[in-house]
Amino acid sequence: MIETLVRKKQRASKIFSLLKRKYPYSKYHLYYTSPHELLVANILSDHCTRERVNTVAKKLFNKYHSSIDFAYCNLDSLAEDIRSTGNQNNKAKKIKKACYIIVEKYNGVVPCSIDDLLGLPGVGKETAKCIMGEIYNVPTILIDSHMVRIMKLLGFTRSNDPKKIETEIIDTFEKKIWMKLSYLINDHGTAVCVDRKPHCKACVINKLCPSSYV
Ligand code: SF4
Repeated sequence: MIETLVRKKQRASKIFSLLKRKYPYSKYHLYYTSPHELLVANILSDHCTRERVNTVAKKLFNKYHSSIDFAYCNLDSLAEDIRSTGNQNNKAKKIKKACYIIVEKYNGVVPCSIDDLLGLPGVGKETAKCIMGEIYNVPTILIDSHMVRIMKLLGFTRSNDPKKIETEIIDTFEKKIWMKLSYLINDHGTAVCVDRKPHCKACVINKLCPSSYV
């Protein structure tokens, strides 16, 4: 049976409430304490687990206290400091260059526009959106692999195209909850609706999910 948009929105709202109750402390999953640190953490996260990034980031930000420290650091030392996240030489170059541009072109302030952010080395669309949402409170939806997988399982999209998925989520979920939804789906995808074998029996939204095996 085809689900009307009204029904779909009602289901989406219930799913959000249940997930919010299940993960009351849900927040952005990478460690940072300032805008440039969020940018650095995102660069480190390329092909690396959140646990590893967060372990490395905590130490790193104790050593490099500002974007100036990164901008004028010794590249080899920085690469060594982030070695365990993989692809360290490339990541170190991107971090140093991005921070250099922030210092020299933007007076040390991480830019507040998607276009300017995309001009920084190592910053792709999702990182730019993340900074806009986390730092500048611009409502945005982060499309990571958990979001793609779970939105399909929940029947809110059939697409694999991030742009299309984003549009469908925008049409279905209230704007004010977009960022929170992104964190909740990330937590749910890590804890319960895992990639290989979702734990549907333990899932708080299984009665609202068309893919549930329960
Ligand atoms: S019911 Fe199963 S497939 Fe659906 S969201 Fe929950 S864990 Fe994922």
